[in-house]
Amino acid sequence: MINKTNRQLFLEHVAQTSPTPMGIEIVGAEGSYLFGSDGKQYIDLIGGISVCNIGHKNPAVVNAIKEQAEAYLHVMVYGEVVQSPQVKYAELLASQLPAHLDCVYFTNSGSEATEGALKLARRVTGKSDIICCNKAYHGNTLGALSIMGDEYWRNAFRPLLPGVGHYDFNSRELIDAVNENTACVIIETIQGEAGVIVPDNNWLKALRSKCDDTCTLLIFDEIQCGFGRTGKMWGFQHYNVEPDILLLGKALGGGMPLGAFISSHQLMATLTVNPVLGHITTFGGHPVCCAAGMAAMNVLMQDAIIEHVPEKEALFHSLLKHPAIVSVRSKGLLMAVELDSATSVSQTLKSCLDKGLFSDWFLFAPEYIRVAPPLTISEEDIRKACAIILSCL
Ligand code: PLP
Repeated sequence: MINKTNRQLFLEHVAQTSPTPMGIEIVGAEGSYLFGSDGKQYIDLIGGISVCNIGHKNPAVVNAIKEQAEAYLHVMVYGEVVQSPQVKYAELLASQLPAHLDCVYFTNSGSEATEGALKLARRVTGKSDIICCNKAYHGNTLGALSIMGDEYWRNAFRPLLPGVGHYDFNSRELIDAVNENTACVIIETIQGEAGVIVPDNNWLKALRSKCDDTCTLLIFDEIQCGFGRTGKMWGFQHYNVEPDILLLGKALGGGMPLGAFISSHQLMATLTVNPVLGHITTFGGHPVCCAAGMAAMNVLMQDAIIEHVPEKEALFHSLLKHPAIVSVRSKGLLMAVELDSATSVSQTLKSCLDKGLFSDWFLFAPEYIRVAPPLTISEEDIRKACAIILSCL
């Protein structure tokens, strides 16, 4: 019998949804680098898609995982017994958030955080309509898919949730559409998959006030833009506008699967009556994931990593200058580098991979290269990464 390679087995037995998976085999990762089974090393310019904000294999995170694994793994479904990693992490998160965001419901993923938030908004308001944005990404489960801002990805899976209205980010139309029947408005504070679109401050303020006037809950999805990615711990801190419900995921787990929807104790309490157990999960808030996530958040704060994001963002801007680069959009180290077409992007990404640079494109902006490295990336590696990109253009 001929032994198959892991790549062949990957294509045969691991369900594929990408017609062209990168398919390089990873055998290790450390700091801002990935190591391939072919002996090559790659600068990681996407950090697991905004997950590995403190870099790969941070010793504090690895130790937290080991210690918790020695103590206990799964013991009981969510919310029945006191598990110190969950409790401590929820307390830490609350301490870094506005006072009304003091109650954390942990989930397994960002998509599940979205689902929980939509249910909470309906339960609290007794209303069902949802307003969201074109080019928005909130996950891939059916509820989250219903509010995804692109018909191409929605159309094969209908019927989806009724009562959903899509409008342009930053548009007056979106604010005008919010009315007494709206349960919630859900937006990414900074749109990620749209290719990094920042909100207009006055728009966010006007949206907040329209939500208040119509008893509509405002949900900020910071699954991609939270945890220092944009140069502040939370994206909304750039704008002085606060949500009623905050969604976190990705970097929340420090490399382990974890999501959360966070609101006030008062709003969350509605999920305990009519029906009781208004939202349940077996694994959400897994103790190992919470231990890892808390260790990662502590590193992020103690090592003052976020403080250096603006200077690293500026360095990328100063280096990414080339006639083939149409524009560079960014908020912190969430950056989108525009080329003239999606084809140019895919060709460039392929050459970059060959030269040891690992990056990607954006779901709703395929003519942009994604630049979202670990926030800990060194100046030297930024220079190396940009030199590779320029040499591939
Ligand atoms: N929301 C945003 C803004 C995201 O970027 C993502 C994932 O890319 C999600 C939600 C969904 O998270 P997950 O893939 O963990 O379900």
